[in-house]
Amino acid sequence: MQETIDRITETVKNICATLPENVTLVAAAKTRTLEEVQAVIQAGITHIGYNYIQEALPIIQTVGNSAIWHMIGHLQRNKAKYVVEFFNMCQTVDSWRLAKYLDDRCRMMNRTMPVLIEINSGKESNKTGVLPNDVDDLIKNMSELKNLQVQGMMTMGPRFGEPEKSRPYFKLTREVFERIKSKNIPNIEMKYLSMGMSNSYQVAIEEGANIVRIGTRLFGERS
Ligand SMILES: *Cc1c(COP(=O)(O)O)cnc(C)c1O
Repeated sequence: MQETIDRITETVKNICATLPENVTLVAAAKTRTLEEVQAVIQAGITHIGYNYIQEALPIIQTVGNSAIWHMIGHLQRNKAKYVVEFFNMCQTVDSWRLAKYLDDRCRMMNRTMPVLIEINSGKESNKTGVLPNDVDDLIKNMSELKNLQVQGMMTMGPRFGEPEKSRPYFKLTREVFERIKSKNIPNIEMKYLSMGMSNSYQVAIEEGANIVRIGTRLFGERS
């Protein structure tokens, strides 16, 4: 345990030293143990991201509100109620059906939830996220939802070994972000841009990201 804490504390320190002050680090915690998650929190990380509800719930129920919980994985509607109950933010809203469903659930639970719109910046047919051309309609509809607060955008982009190859996808997402921002749509804020992972976060920050989601570089390789 102490070894894990020492290793992770050191890594957190090193990564944070490379981040501009306005950039929030979300620890992407999939496959990590409770101990590892507790170690990043002890090291000062407050934002934790999960891809799967089943994996997140036991951890969230143990750790509780000493962290801020982000859903960063594709969300099925039948799991949406758990996000509303246990998470602070959902970064992966990519359809009107899901948005409407989350909004209804939030109303039932008497809460509002901050969300990001996930952009399919690679325009890959098998990928999640809304296509750049469809964003305007989705956001226009979402501006009517009383219990969701759209606060920005998120993208994964195609996976590459080489960080530079991600740049065009981050650039494109930034363009969509700025375009929507300039429309000043009621109830739609564009303040968070979540892009970049272990190998690409520096490029993402250069392209305007202010949330980065880091797993491997923080915790080590996933087995
Ligand atoms: C796993 C994951 C990350 C982090 O990936 P690493 O390469 O391990 O840093 C970021 N975002 C999402 C959505 C992920 O699923």
